[in-house]
Amino acid sequence: MDCLFCAIIAGDVPSRQIYADEHAIAFLDIAPLHWGHTLVVPRQHVTDILAEGTTLSDIAPAVHNVSRLLVDRLEAGGVNVLINNGALAGQEVFHLHVHLVPRYPEFPGMRALFQPDPEAGAELDALHAILTGEA
Ligand code: 5GP
Ligand code: ZN
Repeated sequence: MDCLFCAIIAGDVPSRQIYADEHAIAFLDIAPLHWGHTLVVPRQHVTDILAEGTTLSDIAPAVHNVSRLLVDRLEAGGVNVLINNGALAGQEVFHLHVHLVPRYPEFPGMRALFQPDPEAGAELDALHAILTGEA
């Protein structure tokens, strides 16, 4: 099977990983909407929440722990939790993933979620170091 996120989980494609547990890993989105935009991805390949396999409850601890990590370390004022299921909903990578998007006062509100901060993609290595404690 040719799946980008399975390749990232296997370590065959590099990512800036910030979290791992039994059921999921989390890594920085390569094209962030806002500073710290992270993807939580189940280790088991499952297309979306409509498919059989890993359920949301399996990856809920990862979603919770990574949300807290992002808000604490980045001093965000909030976080959006989003899953796109199906191409019409905007899904582009067909391995279930939860978007965690930390939010800041400069670009508040749900509609500004999709008007990315133009600076959000800068300094991804520095951001990774902050979130992994290497900074
Ligand atoms: P979707 O539209 O499927 O919900 O989200 C896919 C996400 O994966 C997008 O936000 C996109 O920026 C991210 N993405 C695509 N390719 C890569 C990659 O190679 N590495 C990382 N870290 N993120 C990726
Ligand atoms: Zn996969």
